[in-house]
Amino acid sequence: MNASVDITTTRVCAFCKYWWDPACQYIVPHLGKTWFYNNGVKCKCIKKGVESASYHSCAMFKLKIEY
Ligand code: SF4
Repeated sequence: MNASVDITTTRVCAFCKYWWDPACQYIVPHLGKTWFYNNGVKCKCIKKGVESASYHSCAMFKLKIEY
């Protein structure tokens, strides 16, 4: 894990429910609202049907985590 986000404001694919990482292997909680993720990987966006980098984002983002 080499990048951090504020889970309450992030819109990167790694935290989107449409990004195909069912085991959440590329994200991990850290402290409070801060989470870490791997920004060097790609997974399939099941909304768009294309590969998408973990650091990418779009207007269809939906957060996969409850906080
Ligand atoms: S491209 Fe958009 S819909 Fe697809 S995983 Fe990324 S933020 Fe979510």
